[in-house]
Amino acid sequence: MSLNKNNAEEKVVRVRSDESGLIEVDCPLCGSNRSKKLFDVKDWTLHCDDRVFSLRRCSECGCGYLSPRPPENEMSLYYPPRFYWSYEGVSREIDWPAIVQNRSRQLKSKAAWLKDLPPGRLLDIGAMKGEFLWFMQQKGWVVEGVELDNNVPNPAKMPIHYGDFLKMDFSQNYYDVITFWAVLEHVYHPVPFIEYASRLLKPGGRLVVLVTNLNSVQARFYRADDYPRHLTVFTASSAKAMCKKNGLRIERISTDQNIFGGALNGGLLYAFKHACGSDTEALFNEWKQPEDKHLFWVKWKGRPSELIRTVSRIDKALSLPFEYVLDRFGLGFNMTFSAVKVMTVTS
Ligand SMILES: [Zn+2]
Repeated sequence: MSLNKNNAEEKVVRVRSDESGLIEVDCPLCGSNRSKKLFDVKDWTLHCDDRVFSLRRCSECGCGYLSPRPPENEMSLYYPPRFYWSYEGVSREIDWPAIVQNRSRQLKSKAAWLKDLPPGRLLDIGAMKGEFLWFMQQKGWVVEGVELDNNVPNPAKMPIHYGDFLKMDFSQNYYDVITFWAVLEHVYHPVPFIEYASRLLKPGGRLVVLVTNLNSVQARFYRADDYPRHLTVFTASSAKAMCKKNGLRIERISTDQNIFGGALNGGLLYAFKHACGSDTEALFNEWKQPEDKHLFWVKWKGRPSELIRTVSRIDKALSLPFEYVLDRFGLGFNMTFSAVKVMTVTS
């Protein structure tokens, strides 16, 4: 293994000596080099390549992180257009009323995190097509967004800045609210995003973040995170520590599935298929691929099966009450938290 120290960020990166081209990193949240491997993962969703990554748990702050992982300059390979926007069509084809109607419940659930605030200035990082900006603008908020990918259509012509948030020059102590919906688990170095957002918030301003939760059955046993696109898997305590270091105090945490799906069902069906002879990798491939929704839930080795359909129904019925309880005890798959800026952080 060779060592390459990046002086700008004081991070030690170890390049693996095998043929994979992957690198090993220390904890992206606290910098500790002490960790325990949880399990191996692959890109089961989009199959952008066949490399094997590992999810590790930091022994210091408790968060999960991918190591070995692809080098930062290779991450764009894992984001083909079909990953997050092209399925709704390119600009000229997009039916905006249909998109916001389809996402109506999700948009209302996001807005509920701000319902106690009067309209003010909102900055949404990872704004996609601007649907949340549009929704909050209707409620009187002055909105701005940031989106890394300038190929993502902007049908409602929302004020979205395209490019790297960390290289943009925003006014400090200016925003009432900054939101990150399903963004921080994707970024290579999450802490600088929180540092910068904290500087841009007014004192008393609110940060709202949705990430996935390592302390969930789905993350730990179903390997439900979207690897290698999810590079950091948070916990409530690691999120609290990250916020505290950056002048933010977490006020509320919820692990319900109102904004993004992350249901508990699937485990029983997985166990049943495994007991009947399917191996782990074949099952994760079936479960996570987006093309054929029936492949895992109602088919056996690619063919419709009444037995599998029945086990699916039992699985769903049995998992619902457990899901309800786990979500309410902080053990649901998605974790949303809000934090207040309690002091001004100087650069
Ligand atoms: Zn850590």
